[in-house]
Amino acid sequence: MRFFMIGFGQAGGKILDLFLENEKMRGSKIELKTLAINTARTDLMGLKHVPMQDRILIGQTVVKGHGVGTDNKLGAKIAQDEIETILSEIDNRGTHEIDAFLIISGLGGGTGSGGSPVLAKYLSEMYSEPVYAIGVLPAPEEGKLYSLNAARSMISLLKYVDNLILVDNGAWKFEGLSLRESFARINEEIVRRLAVLARAGEPMEEGMVGEMVVDSSEVINTLRGGGISSIGYATSLAEPESKKKAKLLPFFKARKKEEEPIMEDDKAMKIASLVRRAALGRLTIPCNIRSAERALVLVAGPPEHLDRKGLEKAKLWLEEQIAGVEVRAGDYPTRRTKYVAALVVLANVTDIPRVRELQRMAAEAKEEVEDAERMRIEKTLSLFDEDIEPLI
Ligand code: GDP
Repeated sequence: MRFFMIGFGQAGGKILDLFLENEKMRGSKIELKTLAINTARTDLMGLKHVPMQDRILIGQTVVKGHGVGTDNKLGAKIAQDEIETILSEIDNRGTHEIDAFLIISGLGGGTGSGGSPVLAKYLSEMYSEPVYAIGVLPAPEEGKLYSLNAARSMISLLKYVDNLILVDNGAWKFEGLSLRESFARINEEIVRRLAVLARAGEPMEEGMVGEMVVDSSEVINTLRGGGISSIGYATSLAEPESKKKAKLLPFFKARKKEEEPIMEDDKAMKIASLVRRAALGRLTIPCNIRSAERALVLVAGPPEHLDRKGLEKAKLWLEEQIAGVEVRAGDYPTRRTKYVAALVVLANVTDIPRVRELQRMAAEAKEEVEDAERMRIEKTLSLFDEDIEPLI
């Protein structure tokens, strides 16, 4: 799955940066098109793996490289004013080989929250490739203004994207760590999931053959429709075959002939339960799995640990769990890891308590902001005597 990845704003840029670091570490050969866009110079300079030529500073004449704070209306205006520059930077990097655009941003802030929907609008109008967004939701303790920003950004994004994958900072805050301290860990979790998704439909490592191949068109078919998605993920250590056999040795001696079928069943069960763990464990945004329209399962790991039967079992199980019936599944053999990872994309989910809560907080915030403004105007006017004429 070849993404043109755009990190918009601070959170988006950091997640993109970590993704690139991760790909480098794995010795990945996937050719990536990337762009980090920001109104804050220091945020762009803080990135380590996004190439210098792929970092673009916008809004210089307005905010002088200092960012927009949490003003996402200003973020949207700057993106709108400089859309020609952004689009030509994208076009210059070439788009004919990509499968989809992926915009990553924090929805509670200013630059990414305001700019992402503007960019999504133009990309969806100009290109036939789907436009996806990964939107990071603020934690409740960040306050009502962040909620209002996120609610506005989400509504706007949903008008233009083919899919919005949500990540809830509140649900992902790590025990004993502050929210800020948790960011690095949350970003790692996002990147792990993205790395598996990006492998779908990509050329296999030399000498590897997938049991069931999922290509990029199946990812696209899963994500179509413009809804909200959540991603589950689980891993297990892939025990080397020699160790497994050593553990089973007495058993093997007794029933040598049945050795193979037992090992195969064991493998199938492990894959099926790993997928179940991914779907029922911590999702990027907690949601009711039964409200998902479609699902996609991707399993990656050393080839001797992948299993077609297990994957088919997991697929059947998932079909029972979700509202719809479309479940796609595939695997990707790789020697670059000691783990087997299962990714479950729950596409177009509709029962998401956090989104409803955010909507409520945003409505309250909007009312409070309007009330405060009305009061301020009334009180300021009451400071002055009506008999005094203004100069102009
Ligand atoms: P922008 O630079 O104006 O687009 O603003 P940010 O990207 O900093 O967006 C602020 C929101 O993103 C807040 O809700 C933060 O909780 C969240 N955020 C900021 N940095 C990170 C990060 O590195 N990881 C995650 N997961 N969230 C972040």
